[in-house]
Amino acid sequence: MIPLFKVAMAEDAPHMVGDILASGWIGQGPRVEEFEDRLRERLGTSHLATVNCATSGLHLALHMTAGAGRAARPGEPPEGEVLTTALTCTATNWPILANGLRIRWVDVDPATLNVNLDDLARKITPATRAIVVVHWAGYPVDLDRLRSILDAAEARHGFRPVVIEDCAHAWGSTYRGERLGNHGNIAVYSFQAIKSLTTGDGGVVVFPTEELAERAKILRWYGIDRRVPEGPRLAADIPEYGFKFHMNDINATIGLANLPSVDARVARHQENAACYDRELKGVPGLELTERARGRQSSCWLYTVLVERRPEFEARMAEQGIAVSQVHQRNDVYSVVAESHARLPGLDRVAERMVSIPVGWWVSDDDREHIAETIRDGW
Ligand SMILES: *Cc1c(COP(=O)(O)O)cnc(C)c1O
Repeated sequence: MIPLFKVAMAEDAPHMVGDILASGWIGQGPRVEEFEDRLRERLGTSHLATVNCATSGLHLALHMTAGAGRAARPGEPPEGEVLTTALTCTATNWPILANGLRIRWVDVDPATLNVNLDDLARKITPATRAIVVVHWAGYPVDLDRLRSILDAAEARHGFRPVVIEDCAHAWGSTYRGERLGNHGNIAVYSFQAIKSLTTGDGGVVVFPTEELAERAKILRWYGIDRRVPEGPRLAADIPEYGFKFHMNDINATIGLANLPSVDARVARHQENAACYDRELKGVPGLELTERARGRQSSCWLYTVLVERRPEFEARMAEQGIAVSQVHQRNDVYSVVAESHARLPGLDRVAERMVSIPVGWWVSDDDREHIAETIRDGW
């Protein structure tokens, strides 16, 4: 079976982790600092804080800017709302509920599988505290257009909701030549087991200012400033409560081991995707997603829209090719029943979308076999 996902682990990871396990220090320490330095270089931004997973990162970002830890604006409605997409992992959306905020679904653009920005613009109200967007498969949301929508909302309502980009699929993606996380918003990357860069579990939150990043480093560990030099680890004061969301030296070491090879692996995802873009164009019953200039996808996934999906899935399984929807639309769960909304764009894609193997483990022969199987029909 050609797998849809594979864990990417560098050969020297076990040896490097072994050294840390024997070192007497496995908590948050020098390896976390070193990993953060390397991430600053890679992402091209200096304001960041690692965390123990992207879900924690999203929770922390929402807490700081839209939930209990926010600076409230005068005259703000008591109930806060977050605009978000239902086409994603539950990890994107449950932190909204955990922060006591209401979910308001924004429809999906069938061409990109990202949020429909027209629908998003219509749904911004004085109750909107934050906007969460997902770069599906790594294909960047049109961030310039999003910025101008927010400029207009600010002119109309007198405030600007914070934008949080879920970059869990998007290690290696660029928008106008720059890595995601450099466009004035908060951006959260995941280093979960099957993501392009893994630390076992982990994540990083990128902030637009150093002030926010510094506050996040305190709140990720109970509200205690760990930079206070040695001595008894008793905080003189905790002015604001925090969480236990920090990364430890074991996970940071796995990240340090995997970082040198990640970009070459992502390049292979992109190369395989470019091959499918050519080979699958015009196949009857199959639609490809958009590729626009200035928006380079990491191609963590390769998602297509197919007619008769059950037959497609059966045909692929027969040919030894793993395929999946990957994420179930989140609006079907009863926990979010009160946020129910009409989402015609999402309805159009939900029954047809499916992802096919595209990763670094897919060989030239594999991808030829996959493309041929699809071209032969189902
Ligand atoms: C993997 C994933 C997450 C969650 O990441 P964790 O590090 O496992 O918390 C969030 N959003 C999306 C879209 C994901 O695919």
